[in-house]
Amino acid sequence: MHKETQQLIEQANQVYQENFPNTTWYGRCIFLSWYCDIGTCQFCFRSTIKHKIQHAKTAKRSLSSDLVEALLCKKLGWRIEFLTGGYRIFSKEEMLNRIKLISKVYGEKIWLNIGVIEAEDLELFKPYVKGIVSSIETIEPKLHDKICPDKPIQPYEEMFEKTKDFQKSMTMVIGLGEKKEDFSLLKEFITKHKLERITFYALKPVKGTPFENTNGPKTEDYLWWIAQTRIHFPKLEIIAGTTARRYEEVGLLLKAGANAFTKFPATKMFGTKEAHKIEDDIKAIGKKLTGTITTLPEIDWNKEIDNLHLDKELEQEVKDKLTIYLKRMENNIK
Ligand code: SF4
Repeated sequence: MHKETQQLIEQANQVYQENFPNTTWYGRCIFLSWYCDIGTCQFCFRSTIKHKIQHAKTAKRSLSSDLVEALLCKKLGWRIEFLTGGYRIFSKEEMLNRIKLISKVYGEKIWLNIGVIEAEDLELFKPYVKGIVSSIETIEPKLHDKICPDKPIQPYEEMFEKTKDFQKSMTMVIGLGEKKEDFSLLKEFITKHKLERITFYALKPVKGTPFENTNGPKTEDYLWWIAQTRIHFPKLEIIAGTTARRYEEVGLLLKAGANAFTKFPATKMFGTKEAHKIEDDIKAIGKKLTGTITTLPEIDWNKEIDNLHLDKELEQEVKDKLTIYLKRMENNIK
């Protein structure tokens, strides 16, 4: 690693330590559906399955899966990063019901990253939602228009301007062609909208997209954006995405000033050597992980589900689905 990057990380780490406790967490995003109603962002795997998006109404995820994930988050010490997926795929009542139930199972208000939400729907969701996320993806306007032709920034800005009762966050993917000088645009955006949080991702090259033959950003470049953001915004909550391939970066991402990591497939890879490596790296940099991605605690899961007082049919579905999840997690550990 270049000396300059090392120094930058040290500086960011210093700023972090002055502003936050030494704890970190795994943030899990919960998908409400498998497709979105845009489906044209150049880097996204959904752009490769666009033809299926017209059938998006059949692409809803089962409610029981979402509830199982919310329960795992609660009991394993993970935070729900946000709920995401196609907002317009659901009827208003269905959407409200899901948000309400997921927040009930998790026991706290949640974040939503479901596109530009109508003002009246925000009002409706408010009792269960603490924050809204704008998937900005990349901040330089010309690059943004190219990468996300059907997801303009302006409507997100308008949503932010109209909403006073929610915390605000954005997402940004590194590796889409952004330049370091674009950091000033990011700074402006965060300041203008008084964001409380940002989630960074490292581009995951997806087959069938223009990025197919790229490797995603170099670790140093990814760290640069996180460290700069930490230095310029000492109190901002920064979440950094990893993947099953980039998991060895997690310690560095946290050292560069991220509060937490996300996008690790923690149920699929629970207890694997990769999950252990992440936990070890967190310890090695002197931080403490809240919760676990390696060890299943002794929990009477049926009792936990009974205590949710779901309707009987849904309750049984959640029990069945959870059994499948737990079996897979246990198999990894053996
Ligand atoms: S990046 Fe988001 S909005 Fe764009 S196609 Fe993918 S899921 Fe849809």
